[in-house]
Amino acid sequence: MPTLVMKFGGTSVANMDRIRRVAKRIGVEVAKGYDVIVILSAMSGKTNELVGWVEETAPIYDAREYDAVVSSGENVTAGLMALTLDAMDVPARSWQGWQVPVQTTSVHSAARINDISTENINAKFAEGMKVAVVAGFQGISEEGRITTLGRGGSDTTAVAFTAAFGAERCDIYTDVDGVYTTDPRITDKARKLDKIAFEEMLELASLGAKVLQTRSVELAMRFKVRLRVLSSFEEQTENSGTLVCDEEEIMEDNVVAGVACQRDEAKITLISVADRPGIAAAIFVPLSKAGVNVDMIVQNISEEGRTDMTFSCPVDHVARAESAIAEIKSSGEINFRDLIIDKDVAKVSVVGIGMRSHTGVAAQMFEVLHKEGINIKVITTSEIKISVLVDRKYMELAVQALHDAFELDKAG
Ligand code: ASP
Ligand code: MG
Repeated sequence: MPTLVMKFGGTSVANMDRIRRVAKRIGVEVAKGYDVIVILSAMSGKTNELVGWVEETAPIYDAREYDAVVSSGENVTAGLMALTLDAMDVPARSWQGWQVPVQTTSVHSAARINDISTENINAKFAEGMKVAVVAGFQGISEEGRITTLGRGGSDTTAVAFTAAFGAERCDIYTDVDGVYTTDPRITDKARKLDKIAFEEMLELASLGAKVLQTRSVELAMRFKVRLRVLSSFEEQTENSGTLVCDEEEIMEDNVVAGVACQRDEAKITLISVADRPGIAAAIFVPLSKAGVNVDMIVQNISEEGRTDMTFSCPVDHVARAESAIAEIKSSGEINFRDLIIDKDVAKVSVVGIGMRSHTGVAAQMFEVLHKEGINIKVITTSEIKISVLVDRKYMELAVQALHDAFELDKAG
C-alpha cells in the first residue's frame, strides 16, 4: 500500500466538531487506498496553557518535567482522533512518541529526532490498521524520558515520518490555504504560490512566514520530502495549497518568489571597537552564550585601527544583549566608545532562487525603497535573499512597494 502522511495543526483539531471533520478528510485518503500516518498537534491554545501551568508552578523549571507536561496536549488529540476514526469504521490506533518509538536527543524542549522505528506501526498496518494517529512534537530520549521538539515541532514530526516510512507525500493541513508571496494582512495583492522551492521556503520560514517550523523545511530539503501546505477548512482539489519541493520541479521563473518581513527587530551598534583578531569572537561568543539570537552582522572598514560593529536581534533579546556586552566591557576584554541601541526597526527581505542567475535585484530593491523615501539602515545579502533593516513604521509600506515593483501579484 502507498503511504501518505497528513499533519493537522491545532486549529484543525480545536474541538470535537473539527476532529470529526478532519477524520472525514482522512477517510477520503484511506478510501483512495492509502495507509495513512496522521500527525497531530494539540488543540489550539492547549500547549500555551500547559506551558503557563509549568511556569506558574516553577519559574525555573526542570526541562524534563516541562516536556512531560507540555507533550500531553498531543496525547489527547491523538486518542480522540483514533476513537473518531474507529467510530467511522476506519481502523485506527493512536501512538505516543515513545510507543513508536521516536528516538530523540536529550535536549529537553528542543530535542532533535535521531531515529523513527517503522516496525511497530508497519506491523499494525499489516494486520489491517488503516490509520496510525501519531502524537506530534514528542519523542523519547536515550535516558527513556519524554522529550519535545520545540514549538511548532509537529511539522518536523510529520516530515521525519514521511522520510522514515518513504511516504509518497506529506500534507500539512493548517489554517491558511498555502504559502503566499507575502503576508496577506499587509497587502491584499499577496498571491498564493502553487509551488515554492525548499530553499525559498526555508528563507521565508526563518524570516517570519510562520506557516512551517523552520526545522521541518530543513529536514524536507535534506530528504527531498514533498510537502504540501493546505487549509483544513476548504474543499481540496488537485491544485489546492502550495507544494514545497525541489527547485527542479518549478517551471515558473519569477526572479523574486516572495517578500518577507519581521516586525520586532532591534539594531545594536558598538562604536569604535579595536579592529584586531579575536574581536568578533570576544563579542559574539558571550552573546551566543547569553542566548541572544543574533541575525545580521555588519563590520565596517576600520579607521586608525578602530571599527564599528553592528548586529540585529529580536527586540526582546535586547536586555540580555546589553548585559552581556556590559559584562565583556567591564572585564576589559573589549572596549568601545558608545553603544547605540535602536529598538524601532523591522527587517524586510526579498527571496528567490532566480537571484542566482539574475543580476540587478538589489539595485531594484534599493530604488523602490528610495522612491518611497525609506531609509535603509543595514543591508545583508545571501545567494537567494536581500534583507534590509528599516524604521518599523515603514515596514508595511516597504513590503507593499516591493511586492508591486517585483509584480508578485502575477504568476511568472
Ligand atoms: N503543540 C505544539 C506547539 O504548539 C507543537 C505543534 O503544534 O506543532 O508548539
Ligand atoms: Mg504550527
